[in-house]
Amino acid sequence: MATPMFRFDPVELPPEAIALRQEVREFIKKHDDLMGFSRGEFNRDFSRAMGKNGWIGMTWPKQYGGHERSSFERYVVIEEMLAAGAPLSAHYTGDRQSGPNILRFGTEEQKQFFLPKIAAGELTFCIGMSEPNSGSDLAGTRTRAVKVDGGYKIDGSKLWTSNAHRADYAILFCKMAQEGQADPDRHAGATQFLLPLKSPGIEIRPVRNLLGEHHFNEIFLTDVFVPDWLLLGREGNGWNQVTSELAFERSAPDRFLVLFQLLREMVRMAGPSPDRATAAALGKLIAQLATLRSMSLSIAGMLQEGLQPNNESAVVKDLGTRYEQDIPVVARQLFPTEPELEAAETYVSMIARSTMNAPRFSIQGGTREILRGIIARGLGLR
Ligand SMILES: Cc1cc2nc3c(=O)[nH]c(=O)nc-3n(C[C@H](O)[C@H](O)[C@H](O)COP(=O)(O)OP(=O)(O)OC[C@H]3O[C@@H](n4cnc5c(N)ncnc54)[C@H](O)[C@@H]3O)c2cc1C
Repeated sequence: MATPMFRFDPVELPPEAIALRQEVREFIKKHDDLMGFSRGEFNRDFSRAMGKNGWIGMTWPKQYGGHERSSFERYVVIEEMLAAGAPLSAHYTGDRQSGPNILRFGTEEQKQFFLPKIAAGELTFCIGMSEPNSGSDLAGTRTRAVKVDGGYKIDGSKLWTSNAHRADYAILFCKMAQEGQADPDRHAGATQFLLPLKSPGIEIRPVRNLLGEHHFNEIFLTDVFVPDWLLLGREGNGWNQVTSELAFERSAPDRFLVLFQLLREMVRMAGPSPDRATAAALGKLIAQLATLRSMSLSIAGMLQEGLQPNNESAVVKDLGTRYEQDIPVVARQLFPTEPELEAAETYVSMIARSTMNAPRFSIQGGTREILRGIIARGLGLR
């Protein structure tokens, strides 16, 4: 009998997580004027307030500014914040992946320096992985580090770096420069650095998205000096580390809740006695949401057990982004309208914003094809 390749055990939230939900909702109500739609805004004051409540780095050890709470309590905080459209961007990357990767691979000095600041909502991290010609093919990175006296010199460029223009640090993925013939192992020499974005030699240029907004950037690095103490993990261990960082990125419940407010608006518009077709279409979306949520909760359960649910996270991200892309399509079928970004009517502007945002869901954090490759490997098919 073959052992199952994926594990999605049913999980019940423990009482302390259920109790926390009310507290989070009250906090959100108090900050109602900051809640937005479809993309968490960048607001350092809000992140500091979250830090004060102990809602960043919730599962990290207390000695590094964490709170040693369960993955379920963390889940509840994130779930409520995402559903409300809270401005999480100033701390979300640090909380979700940079902090956990520092905790796993960082030196004692790095843990003591970075983690308490991230947990306090004081320090913003961004993700320095993608480059021109190396997005999915991360191993093809051309950014190079050379060892010099007291540190490293780094040259290269990064692309699509969300919030680089507002962040303090990036976890930069690159390779050590090699002399002579290239190593046939495409992961050889891969290395990560904790890169201060104010370092001399760094130029950050905006890239506008479909909505005309400045969310992501190009970063150019020319002879950027990074001191020894900011090497993350080990030289040459970068592939192992970046894969771990991506797994942290994909295990969060933020892949199916971004358009929750549009779903809620659709339910409101359908009213208390919708016709059969409307009820069936909305019922299907809500049933899918409930299923995704149970799957995502069982990932929180595995994280709580100290497991690494990488394959399960890839499944939820793939299904979740498919789901998110379906919501505006179903909305337009049920309640047709001419999309208009600046429309006064909430639904009309939501439709415009969500339709223009939808393509990104299945690209960021690994494209659909890449995730399905991971899933196929998890099933033993490749
Ligand atoms: C909103 C948004 C925010 C982002 N933020 C960041 C960020 O903060 N930091 C960061 O580093 N990156 C970020 N990215 C970049 C993102 O990770 C990459 O866009 C993504 O990994 C795809 O890389 P690419 O754009 O180079 O496309 P490519 O890798 O060129 O892919 C193009 C197409 O080819 C397909 N493809 C590629 N390789 C294969 C394969 N082996 N098998 C089958 N199909 C394949 C892909 O699925 C895709 O459909 C962001 C992207 C978006 C949309």
